[in-house]
Amino acid sequence: MNQKLKLAVLVIVIVIAIGFMIKQFQPKKISTPPDTVEEILVDVKANKLFLKSVKIGTGAYPTTSPFSEGNNAYLAVQCADCKALFAVQGQPPMEGPFDLEIWTPACPVCGSKNFLPKPEFPAGKKSVDLPGPVHVVKLPLKK
Ligand SMILES: [Zn+2]
Repeated sequence: MNQKLKLAVLVIVIVIAIGFMIKQFQPKKISTPPDTVEEILVDVKANKLFLKSVKIGTGAYPTTSPFSEGNNAYLAVQCADCKALFAVQGQPPMEGPFDLEIWTPACPVCGSKNFLPKPEFPAGKKSVDLPGPVHVVKLPLKK
């Protein structure tokens, strides 16, 4: 009887120990920041402005678009002065010195260097038709 009681206690201890171990190994819930961002892109072939979920840090343009075949989608930029919408091509270097002058596009319509933080986009929509053709401004600009 005494032997059985010892065994029972031992089993209980082991069960509790396993329970603790499982708790230890359970992944802690850490709220991770979103790894994708919704970018406003412009398809210069189909003349469409559309939203695309892009993984942060992996955005390379031009990229694919659901509206035409090939890599025709660029980041869309809208002029704050004349409201012209255009595409920019080129990625600023991730490291090293950053020359704001050559990486700031000039509006192909009015030459302004003022831009909206994000192009205007109707809420609730996924894509918008553009009259086109959409200008593509290649960066970096030559000095
Ligand atoms: Zn402009």
